Amino acid sequence: MSDQARVAIVTGAAQGIGKAIAVKLAQEGNNIVVSDINEKKAAETAEELKQTGVQALVVKGDVSKAEDAAMLIKKTVETFGTVDYLINNAGITRDNLIIRMSEQEWDMVLNINLKGVFLCSQQAVRVMMKKRFGRIVNIASVSGILGTAGQANYASSKAGVMALTKTFAREFGARNINVNAIAPGYIITEMTDQLPENVKEEYLAQIPLKRGGTPEDIANVVSFLISPASSYITGTTIHVNGGMVM
Ligand code: NAP
Repeated sequence: MSDQARVAIVTGAAQGIGKAIAVKLAQEGNNIVVSDINEKKAAETAEELKQTGVQALVVKGDVSKAEDAAMLIKKTVETFGTVDYLINNAGITRDNLIIRMSEQEWDMVLNINLKGVFLCSQQAVRVMMKKRFGRIVNIASVSGILGTAGQANYASSKAGVMALTKTFAREFGARNINVNAIAPGYIITEMTDQLPENVKEEYLAQIPLKRGGTPEDIANVVSFLISPASSYITGTTIHVNGGMVM
């Protein structure tokens, strides 16, 4: 690829939505940093990305750890010289009814889903501010709007991500750093594979488009949010849910 290729970091890029985002952005000619806690799978994804002709760097890390977030940006800059796009996609669920939810389940989900977005973005904007360009896309969830039963931790983390998106957008807009979120609905990935069949059927019944989303449905919107076509959009959440919530 040319020296002008932009550099995109995708967290949680080893599989699912993150991998689809990495593939899409690689197909568009961006060099990709594949960040994930699962190094083996991340390396497999990186090999696939290289087939498109771009460079792909694997950085193993846990987004909830400040030292890992700092290392992610450091290694990216050492390898590619800069960061143009940060896609905060890494996320987990640890579902339980409130009455049974442990402090550990609460902390783990908030730390990875919300604090992780804060830590990685805080590091990335240091680089983006200097060059007065950057695009950050945070993957939230429809649960952050609905407050899904059984997901007090997850729904709170994703509502937090949408609020954090607005704060980053306000603080860094003057530096030409646009920060937006995407709230996916029911997307078919390894994460939702674990759901009981009756829950999947319940979701489908609520979706006017009558299908679960694909990871590519989300990747397409990320592509738009980092493109010049969306340069006047910041601080917003785009809902990609087949009409599940209107
Ligand atoms: P997924 O298939 O579970 O993939 C998530 C990836 O992130 C996995 O490779 C996972 O590694 C990695 N990861 C987990 N904890 C991490 C950490 N602390 N640091 C770095 N990487 C970590 O999930 P997905 O369905 O693609 O979801 C991606 C994002 O979309 C998440 O933020 C999720 O909340 C959001 N989302 C998904 C849906 C849906 O229907 N699938 C709907 C709304 C929002 P391990 O597998 O080793 O844990």
